[in-house]
Amino acid sequence: MPIETSFESVTLIGTLKKSGYHKVFLDGHMTGSFELNCDRCGKTYDLSIDNALNLKLSDIISDSKDDLDIIEFLNGEIDVDYILESEINTLRSEYNYCEKCNNDGVEFEVEY
Ligand SMILES: [Zn+2]
Repeated sequence: MPIETSFESVTLIGTLKKSGYHKVFLDGHMTGSFELNCDRCGKTYDLSIDNALNLKLSDIISDSKDDLDIIEFLNGEIDVDYILESEINTLRSEYNYCEKCNNDGVEFEVEY
């Protein structure tokens, strides 16, 4: 089942493949850019991404320790908009430095 969705300026294109009764694999690719705030100077900047997105999804709660990265869709509907949005929010919640601060990396380390 092909999927295509976008959030802000990022597009997710991929396929959903059923794998057993309760599991679905998302084999996707995200391209585009989104706004980030630099964690150092606070400046807003655009980050371009071109990333593969491979996820396991399940409609039952898994208690397997191997499946910590599994995404549950307990109502039986896979909300790809939500998946893309949460991937971007995850990227946003990491430490991100704008290009200028990245290039200042050496100086930054000296401060500590
Ligand atoms: Zn910065």
